[in-house]
Amino acid sequence: MQTNWYGLALSAALILSVAPADAQTAPTPPLGKAPAALELGKPLSPWQTGMLDIHHINTGRGEASFLILPDGTNMLVDASGKTVETPPFSLPTRPDASRPPGEWVARYIARLLPATKARGIDYALISHFHGDHMGAIVADSPRARAGGYRLSGITEIAEHLPILTVIDRAWPDYNYPEPVKGRTVANYRRFLAWQAQNRGLRAERFVPGRNDQLTLRHAPKDYPQFEIRNLYANGTVWSGTGSGSRALFPSLQGMSPKDMPNENKLSIAFRVTYGRFDYFTGGDLSALEDETLSPEQGWKHVETPVALASGPVDAMKANHHGSWDANSAPFLRLLRPRVIVIPSRAEGHPSVNTFKRMTSQATWPGPRDIFITNVSPATFTTTYGVEKAASTQGHVVIRVAPGGASYRVFVLDDTDEAQRVKAVFGPYASQ
Ligand SMILES: [Zn+2]
Repeated sequence: MQTNWYGLALSAALILSVAPADAQTAPTPPLGKAPAALELGKPLSPWQTGMLDIHHINTGRGEASFLILPDGTNMLVDASGKTVETPPFSLPTRPDASRPPGEWVARYIARLLPATKARGIDYALISHFHGDHMGAIVADSPRARAGGYRLSGITEIAEHLPILTVIDRAWPDYNYPEPVKGRTVANYRRFLAWQAQNRGLRAERFVPGRNDQLTLRHAPKDYPQFEIRNLYANGTVWSGTGSGSRALFPSLQGMSPKDMPNENKLSIAFRVTYGRFDYFTGGDLSALEDETLSPEQGWKHVETPVALASGPVDAMKANHHGSWDANSAPFLRLLRPRVIVIPSRAEGHPSVNTFKRMTSQATWPGPRDIFITNVSPATFTTTYGVEKAASTQGHVVIRVAPGGASYRVFVLDDTDEAQRVKAVFGPYASQ
């Protein structure tokens, strides 16, 4: 459904299956007294203390999410940014090509920060070392004002907003499962070193199993029902008990390069819990990289053990932009999300088979709404049924009510920076 007609979008949301069955019975959440119709066409109302906001920001050129936690602590997950690909493989930059994607992300975040009183980004996570998540460095990438590194994605964002802590999967040696090479990561490491020395930036390695690495920084005692559980990175998954973890990969010593796990399968995954509400995000995790994978390579199907560690969730970010090799049926069956957000960034996102798995009642029974940040005209013709998604263009914001009992989903206009509401869905009752 294209949702440029605000009124049409709202009535469609109420009439079609996108109006969740449980919305009829769910109590009106304390999310502001204005009925949805009054919110349409206006900028999204500011975050308030106690809310959990999860923004999936569409730049057309990669993936970036921004979370505002109940006490105002904030977290950037991936930084969008230039990829080494050019259109038609990448989508056009949103709102337009006048600024690089990292700068658009920084400006988007800057509009949200006053409500939280933060002056910068508390946590910036890089799920894995690919250009569409951290910002690819190419020959003509501009230089930073200081520091001798170049700007794209995370380094571009830091040019506009201070970042307190960066967390990735391989700090400080960048040696797993083998030395992480390339211009983009070399530039990123120069950035971390300079920022640590000159701006007090702290870098950390993400530790699977922990629930005390990503914490509320201001008032944790006010929100005992809030937790971020580190589920997975680098082939290591939370064991489900305490902060324990276990390895999924066999020994990689001496393994031939063609058999090594690819970068996507090393992505950071975590679960956000707020009362009854749960949200899953896992970078570009994937299940299948080759349908002819031999049984001995079954350890590469990392999605299923990660979903087992997570358990069911209310909402999730789709893995790997909804690509054909990710969001397997066993993975979806274990998570059973009511809301799926697909941060698409190229033609074929989401792919026809993945979208079919997500929408099929045979995968798991029950209602679900799918929000896609950006569907290209070509993908409309090849991913059958994609027009039935709850939305196919715009930033997608999940706003969880204080305490976590219910949540709504807002689709925001991505053609300018006003963050205007195009459509509202829910309230959904957290399960
Ligand atoms: Zn990606």
